Amino acid sequence: MTVPPGSTIGIVGGGQLGRMLALAAAQLGYRCHIYAPDEAPPAAEVSACFTRGEYDDAQALARFGDSVDVATYEFENIAADPLHALADTVKLFPPPAALEIAQDRLSEKEFVERLGGRPARFAPVASREELDEALARIGAPAILKTRRFGYDGKGQARIMAPADAGAAWESMRGAPSILEGLVDFGAEFSILLCRSASGEVVVWDAPRNHHSGGILALSEVPAGPELRPALIEAEALARKVADALSYVGVLTLEFFAAAEGAVFNEMAPRVHNSGHWTIEGALTSQFENHIRAICGLPLGETALVVPRVEMRNLIGDDVDRWRELFADRAAHVHLYGKGEARPGRKMGHVTRLIA
Ligand code: AMP
Repeated sequence: MTVPPGSTIGIVGGGQLGRMLALAAAQLGYRCHIYAPDEAPPAAEVSACFTRGEYDDAQALARFGDSVDVATYEFENIAADPLHALADTVKLFPPPAALEIAQDRLSEKEFVERLGGRPARFAPVASREELDEALARIGAPAILKTRRFGYDGKGQARIMAPADAGAAWESMRGAPSILEGLVDFGAEFSILLCRSASGEVVVWDAPRNHHSGGILALSEVPAGPELRPALIEAEALARKVADALSYVGVLTLEFFAAAEGAVFNEMAPRVHNSGHWTIEGALTSQFENHIRAICGLPLGETALVVPRVEMRNLIGDDVDRWRELFADRAAHVHLYGKGEARPGRKMGHVTRLIA
């Protein structure tokens, strides 16, 4: 099924990912309708329509679905019922099953393991007693994470020694959690691919990602020749995940490169921060190919346009340096139009193409 240019694409979520999707959609001749709970979301500023609604309001989401020709999401924490209410009224891509798996750190690890992937050692934890049992099995150092609603390192506690277990469990506030062994990694990278409904898959060069305080700070492409074996293994897994889910759109898998190979960390059923470099650095961006995939158009080529690209996030008050950034004529500056530069908030990014 092709959704022709001139049609309206519904995007659930109003952040910077929605904004950059809407900009790509506009280039291809589509209108976007944003659904988000915020008063003035960054994505709505560049879109034709905006509905303000809560993510758990199934009726409002169903009405939103009725008003668009195809729908996608850039926000992951939508509960199952509202998600299905939306999927019942309009074609929703990526498939809701992908979102349901990716929303839960336990189910995504089990899913990937079934397909032959290698996550860090993990165990579900629902009580203090279960944490002690899991620690006895996995050992310290380890990381306790909430199964749901965690992002950018939020909802995580490191356990360097068993004595840290009490404070770590307290910080989860009773939320169902997962204990993961701490991976001794040499690098972090992600695989970004785009799959069409007919099963065509395109993959971008994998970025090497550097985090600071749990938040992505820098992505560098290419990731480096020493990561090649891990990248090959990781890409094969990502293709299996996409095929198993009959996936449509951009899919991201994050990995650690460790001595044992590519260790799966998590997946995101959407465009991803570590793919922002593709806007200027690849023949077709992650945003354009996502729109192409959900509208049933042929996918664009993903090759790098220069030998090297780097993308740096502007976090919190980094954005105050905008004069200096705009003065750098080699810098592609993206600002998301967010009002307040709170600490840890992603305010924009800067991409540099390196010949
Ligand atoms: P996450 O929210 O799971 O992506 O975690 C944020 C960051 O914390 C990751 O990008 C890593 O830098 C670090 N991290 C998360 N899980 C682990 C792990 N099991 N071992 C080592 N580092 C981790």
